[in-house]
Amino acid sequence: MSSGPIRRPSRQVRVGPVAVGGGAPIVVQSMTNTDTADIQGTYQQVMDLALAGSEVVRITVNTVEAARAVPAIRERLDAAGCGVPLVGDFHFNGHRLLTEVPDCAVALAKYRINPGNVGKGSKRDEQFATMIEMACRHDRPVRIGVNWGSLDPELLARIMDENARLPKPKEAAEVTRDALVVSALESAARAEQLGLPRDRILLSAKVSGVQDLIRVYRDLAARCDYPLHLGLTEAGMGSKGIVASTAAMAVLLQEGIGDTIRVSLTPEPGGDRTREVIVAQEILQTMGLRSFAPMVIACPGCGRTTSTVFQELAARIQSYLRSQMTVWKTRYPGVETMHVAVMGCVVNGPGESKHADIGISLPGSGESPVAPVYVDGRKTVTLKGAAIAEEFQAIVEDYVQRRFGGSVPDRSEAASATHRAGA
Ligand code: SF4
Repeated sequence: MSSGPIRRPSRQVRVGPVAVGGGAPIVVQSMTNTDTADIQGTYQQVMDLALAGSEVVRITVNTVEAARAVPAIRERLDAAGCGVPLVGDFHFNGHRLLTEVPDCAVALAKYRINPGNVGKGSKRDEQFATMIEMACRHDRPVRIGVNWGSLDPELLARIMDENARLPKPKEAAEVTRDALVVSALESAARAEQLGLPRDRILLSAKVSGVQDLIRVYRDLAARCDYPLHLGLTEAGMGSKGIVASTAAMAVLLQEGIGDTIRVSLTPEPGGDRTREVIVAQEILQTMGLRSFAPMVIACPGCGRTTSTVFQELAARIQSYLRSQMTVWKTRYPGVETMHVAVMGCVVNGPGESKHADIGISLPGSGESPVAPVYVDGRKTVTLKGAAIAEEFQAIVEDYVQRRFGGSVPDRSEAASATHRAGA
């Protein structure tokens, strides 16, 4: 793992068993899209997200039925041995739900409060204060989560007026970005005045534009030491959502900004919600910030590979490695840092395979139908015939057991680095 960027100093906040900020590893979060009142459906999706690697899961708490379901969901998770902390997402009626359903307030590990959706006029302060009071009473942290789709209109109007009186007024977009940051900071200051300790506050200020997100978070990071939850809101579907989230978050993460992340993907109809967890992990892992599962390096293929054999093998190995991680992460510590190369032909295949911990170079069109395998930079065997995939998977499994299972002396990072440097 490379040394990576210097993280922005921040206070540490505990969300149940999970540490956020203060130098703790960047936490992967996700959010359910089930009706929280559907206890079984929500429990199942939280389990799926947690099994995929989500370290914190947010659920919407929008009705009394949803609030009443939260303790039952928590109980089922605990009974299944799943300790993932649940965060309640509150809008409009959070003050009432937290007060009227105290078991919900206890079952949640954190409350997310959107200052733009707390209430209007004089009720706003009162309802915000009630939610903070509940957080104090139950010793729970709060994320002040501002979103430009629901920015407090009174605050925005105030800042717009102040801007209009400036000798050189800023553009409206800049004023809106300022208002997001001010809303988060003023709400956090108010929460502290109401008695919520500083080390129980996290902030977020989400927007849907990449450049806006970068500007807002740079500003926020410079003006406070609360841990920051990072995410591009309404990122969108499919590759667009993934690319936009990655483009925005990678810039900020590289500057050390962001203590916890969520990738807000819109699932395809019937799509798998756990995709957002995998993408968040892959952003962190490909940037060298954390390791979650062995990485597969595969070439894109070209006219030198007319068959789909290597694509199928790359997909098969990738899904095999990830599926093993629930068991491997405790049985084979460190396996998540492993690199496996699956390459399509002799042009870059042997070289890339040597750089990986274990690699295979499949035969391109016109090459003899053999697939040399490289382990720790050295060619160990050449596979051929119809069972290349099965045999390579067995070699990977054997390598994992030997290297990470403790049955033979573990190779040090230094030894691994040496073979890579010499490859
Ligand atoms: S390694 Fe071979 S098959 Fe893969 S992209 Fe390069 S030339 Fe094409």
